[in-house]
Amino acid sequence: MMWTDIGVNLLNASLRADAEAILQRAEQAQVHRMLVIASDELESHACVGLCAAHAGRLWHSVGIHPHQAATARPGYIERLRELASAPQVVALGEMGLDYNRNYSPPDIQVSVFERQLELAQDLRLPVYLHERDAHDTFYAILRERRDELSGGVVHCFTGDEPTLMRYLELGFSIGVTGWICDERRGHQLQASVRHIPSDRLLLETDSPYLLPRNIRPKPKTRINEPAQLTWVATAVAVHRNESLQQLSAATEANFDRLFLSRHR
Ligand SMILES: [Zn+2]
Repeated sequence: MMWTDIGVNLLNASLRADAEAILQRAEQAQVHRMLVIASDELESHACVGLCAAHAGRLWHSVGIHPHQAATARPGYIERLRELASAPQVVALGEMGLDYNRNYSPPDIQVSVFERQLELAQDLRLPVYLHERDAHDTFYAILRERRDELSGGVVHCFTGDEPTLMRYLELGFSIGVTGWICDERRGHQLQASVRHIPSDRLLLETDSPYLLPRNIRPKPKTRINEPAQLTWVATAVAVHRNESLQQLSAATEANFDRLFLSRHR
């Protein structure tokens, strides 16, 4: 069985220096492919070289995370447009709205999100979406532009069934992380995950964040990495009442269809 981790912050300070060892451990865990997510212009740039060095195993996004929206400098859209022509680029993002801590002011988040949606529409690239505590505004913006977008994924989905249905209705795929392994705050997702159609489901670690809490024996570190994706898969399979084989086959095909079908 093979797995693809569609959410790896490999350029994050806690993973970057160790990237080669992390890729090796992923390979041993049958996590044979990854989508490396960029969160600002600098990371978008760095992804190009890193993923070119591992072509066929690593793909990446380019974009600006809502936390980093305030760091966007004039001309960022034109620079992202250029970076998006790199051969391993399969999505634009991580983009969206995060009102949980408002590291960037909400009005700037909205503007940087909308400019990136326009760019994705222009380039016909799928969008890699992040939303936290901002559902109503986020949904309204996406609904407005649904016909112009080339699909995408709502990454790290943690919501309930009605929220899920709204995203599905807009045509998006759903990324599920180790949030589902959390016995304290994962209940909503554990209940909604079975309502994700098999052809819309993707798996991710969002490493180095969200270390799955079902890992046994308990790891000594809190740093998550792609090799731990199999723990996410195990929990998803249990809550969907399906086999790991079924889950692997479906999610592998979904990655190919959403991210690689436009890929030369
Ligand atoms: Zn995110």
